[in-house]
Amino acid sequence: MTVSSRGDAEALDRADPLAPFVDRFARPDADLVYLDGNSLGRLPHATRTRLRDAVDHEWGDDLVRAWSRWIELPRTVGDRLGELLGARDGEVLVCDSTTVNLYKLAAAALAAQPDRPDVLVPEHEFPTDRYVLEGLVAQAPERSVRHGPPDTVDERTALVVASAVDYRTAELADVAALTARAHDAGALILWDLSHAAGSVPVDLRAANVDLAVGCTYKHLNAGPGAPAFLYVRDDLQAALRQPIWGWFGQTEQFTMGPRYEPAPGIDRFLTGTPNVLGLLAVDEGVAVVAEAGVAAIAEKGRALTSLLIDLAQQWLAPLGFTVASPLDPTRRGAHVALAHPEARAISLALVGEADTVGDFRPPDLLRLGPAPLSSRFVDVWDGIERVRDLVERGAHAAYVDAPSRIV
Ligand SMILES: *Cc1c(COP(=O)(O)O)cnc(C)c1O
Repeated sequence: MTVSSRGDAEALDRADPLAPFVDRFARPDADLVYLDGNSLGRLPHATRTRLRDAVDHEWGDDLVRAWSRWIELPRTVGDRLGELLGARDGEVLVCDSTTVNLYKLAAAALAAQPDRPDVLVPEHEFPTDRYVLEGLVAQAPERSVRHGPPDTVDERTALVVASAVDYRTAELADVAALTARAHDAGALILWDLSHAAGSVPVDLRAANVDLAVGCTYKHLNAGPGAPAFLYVRDDLQAALRQPIWGWFGQTEQFTMGPRYEPAPGIDRFLTGTPNVLGLLAVDEGVAVVAEAGVAAIAEKGRALTSLLIDLAQQWLAPLGFTVASPLDPTRRGAHVALAHPEARAISLALVGEADTVGDFRPPDLLRLGPAPLSSRFVDVWDGIERVRDLVERGAHAAYVDAPSRIV
């Protein structure tokens, strides 16, 4: 349907089968238009209750005795999250940060491919991915990072690293085809699922993916700094050794033996004591996504971003914006990038003047992510209307030189 009034957007909300999920999330400020759920998802009410209970009763009452349960969490929460990603039990852990997991898995993959000198990563890949790989090859003089798209993999490539959903434009990669291509060239492939997990379908087994990592604080709504996940296909686990030899990755951890011997299976990719409260928040975030279903979430994501793009083309194109995301909804994830020369100032002014949160990505992108589970169609309507009104009245001019630590 074409949406030509706020009432039309309200009608879309009434017809939305996922609309009841919006109320599962904290929304204390009715005026706030939050279009940054792809960066930090909203707080699920269930998570607040779960963490409060865990603090009061598990930590408060049970103390160290609770470790007999907590110690299983990286595995059990990993298995639940793995179901969303098409992984089998024993292939996913929730632990550490995405950056650390990327380091562990990329180092293990390079060690397993000693005769191939290159790591292939797209030039515009998320910075932490590029930096971690540069850091790894800095320790290995015979190796180098080659910047290029994953389909340029060749016989010199040890490992390909790429994102399933581009963090700037939300463009979807063809995970299955590019994985097959890497395998044909004899390379391993590691997918970063940070913007994909909980927003678009991922089927790691069907695509025969080797390795993957990703965040839980974006579309999995697990909260700031919540532990990340890693996936290692089960038949690869025994052959891979990660570089952080911590006691949680040790076989027979509590014998406290003299030498490190990696645990069989996925546990060898653990490092040290896990973040228990963070793991409980991941468990709740995963539960709400699983209940709604990733296919339904992705469908709503396409509808929300299509509305956003429609409105941007009508209202914002005359103000100098262009759509930098794929126009084909089947080619994009759950956010949209709008290019504008003043995108940084506009992003800051939206927060400062219009109670509207998106974010800025250099050099010129205003990134707007109406997270499907916690956003309404009217949020998109209101948000784009506010962008239009703000830029029309030139309110961003005052923000051109505004300092900000995070943009
Ligand atoms: C958000 C994001 C990260 C973040 O990594 P952290 O270790 O959690 O800081 C990594 N990779 C991609 C592609 C991301 O979008």
